[in-house]
Amino acid sequence: MMSKMKMKNNHFRLAWERNLRTWKIWWKLCPKFFVSCTSYSVFKALSPYVTIWLSAQIINELARSKNPERLFQLVLIQLVSAALLALCTGMLNRWFNCETDSMRRKYDRIWMEKMMKLDYADIDRQYVYELYSQVKQNENWAAWGFYKSTDIFQKMVLATLRIFGGIALSVSLFVLPVPAGSGALTLLNHPLCALLMIVFMLGIAFLSPICANKSDAYWNRYASEARFGNRLFNFYSFLGEDRKREPDLRIYQQQENVCEKYLEQNISFSKASAISKAARGPMGLWMATSRAISVVLTGVVYLFVCLKAWAGAFGVGSVTQYVGAISSLFLGISDLLEQFGTMQANSEFLKIAFEFLDIPNKMYQGSLTTEKRSDRQYEVEFQDVSFQYPGTEIWALRHVSMKFKVGERLAVVGMNGSGKTTFIKLLCRLYDPTEGKILLNGIDIRKYKYEDYINIFSVVFQDFKLMALTLGENVAGSKQYDREAVTLSLKNAGFADRMERMPKGLETYLYKDLEKDGVEISGGEAQKIAIARALYKDAPFIILDEPTAALDPIAEAEIYSKFNEIVGDKTAIYISHRLSSCKFCDEIAVFHNGSVVQQGTHESLVADESGKYYELWNAQAQYYTEEETQTA
Ligand code: ADP
Repeated sequence: MMSKMKMKNNHFRLAWERNLRTWKIWWKLCPKFFVSCTSYSVFKALSPYVTIWLSAQIINELARSKNPERLFQLVLIQLVSAALLALCTGMLNRWFNCETDSMRRKYDRIWMEKMMKLDYADIDRQYVYELYSQVKQNENWAAWGFYKSTDIFQKMVLATLRIFGGIALSVSLFVLPVPAGSGALTLLNHPLCALLMIVFMLGIAFLSPICANKSDAYWNRYASEARFGNRLFNFYSFLGEDRKREPDLRIYQQQENVCEKYLEQNISFSKASAISKAARGPMGLWMATSRAISVVLTGVVYLFVCLKAWAGAFGVGSVTQYVGAISSLFLGISDLLEQFGTMQANSEFLKIAFEFLDIPNKMYQGSLTTEKRSDRQYEVEFQDVSFQYPGTEIWALRHVSMKFKVGERLAVVGMNGSGKTTFIKLLCRLYDPTEGKILLNGIDIRKYKYEDYINIFSVVFQDFKLMALTLGENVAGSKQYDREAVTLSLKNAGFADRMERMPKGLETYLYKDLEKDGVEISGGEAQKIAIARALYKDAPFIILDEPTAALDPIAEAEIYSKFNEIVGDKTAIYISHRLSSCKFCDEIAVFHNGSVVQQGTHESLVADESGKYYELWNAQAQYYTEEETQTA
């Protein structure tokens, strides 16, 4: 019994701590929300009491001396104060709504910043994806998590103020005595009677929210089902809105055959769902009981107040005051307790949110700067590097040792899955090696400041993404840019002709997301822009991962024929399937099953007839010959 109690206390403490932590985060994001919320709540909670009190005074006046002058004064005060209070409450409400909106707009930053700070290796992990998607699904479901805690704050402040106002206006009910000679009703003067009344009222005030919280607890119980349902709903319901999916959707009739079938099976939001059944059953029953208990309270309050008024403890006007004040007081208590319950229910959702926000950064962050090398003389060395992707047993790279200097051209070739992209990702320190070291000028790359280190690389990844911004902004990666340098980079990347056909040149928007006159570009054109972006960055290392995959042979030949010249004194690393594209490189590294099996110039490698390169070269030569024969 004791331990159950202790567990409950711990549970409550944990819920309170999580809630407090969320408020602190919100406070940092938007302190004005809290100020506006509290100011608005003061007026919202206390205005009714002013009206209640003044109405009581008017009725008392009518019931007693009926002094017209006093009555006029009271009515005037009532009208003016009601108007002023309504005005202030309205204005504060507007302010509060504006702050709520602005806070919610800033909210996404919390998640975006965390995403940007996560170790890259973590972004890949299913566990991290699951956590993040749970946070978002919980929000979509019924604003559980961070949003709910703002709601809790507002309701708690309102309830607390209601309680204070209610107490202030109802204390005299228990203090004012029934005049002597009221017969049995003088019993009401007995302190025990007042105490009993208070205990009874408090009992009911506690019981009602307990029932409401029992009802709310079902939200937690069915959270995972609802989350999954939300996930299916979010994925399948909006597929048709994704323009890029349209061709597939139509050709394979995916809407009818897949999406609708999945949505039909998704019962999370239908009448058959567990939460819906619970709402019709115990959840609804608990809520109804909670409301019914509140009605009993109102009845008892009426009885007590009327009996005291009957006996002459106060005038009839005060009956409305006490009934109004006590009803509001207990509404405040119920609301406050209900919010404590909601806070506990929300705690489980916050736990998931904090689990995500608290994912630690395990990558070592060095402090050395790479800027010291103003001569841009860099040398990179892989020392017996091996790597396993997180959560996998397979070695994506095994015992890779390699050295290259600035100014060299290195080609990395090999079959699919041989480890070429992994090699680049380790070089750019998206991951750290599982074993071995990567050195930059003899120093472990982990010891450099991360931002400094990645600044020495320009990479065109296979799955690069462009933005729905202008062409110039895409290449420069910023709003302000050197027009000449951007134009030159685009020209060097083979985009000059296409740019001439663009209606507004560098100011032409790519895609139509932000601008109706935006242009749609092909995969090959996008790749040229991505190459121009890498050239514009002007970093000492330029890495092209399958840069020519989406380029037609003519565009590829055009780029390669002048790449040596474009790259200049930079180090260029090319990953390519097409061995013919790599012939011009000083050094070619052949990857196979995660290891470098051969290294050398094209001539030396092709001369080794037992080597992997020879095999790949012949396979491709045959393919090209066949292709040429067919086209001829
Ligand atoms: P390549 O670029 O030569 O085609 P990769 O470097 O992409 O090859 O892949 C090397 C190996 O690592 C493959 O077996 C691949 O399945 C595996 N791999 C690649 N990316 C991941 C990842 N994010 N998680 C787990 N395994 C991966």
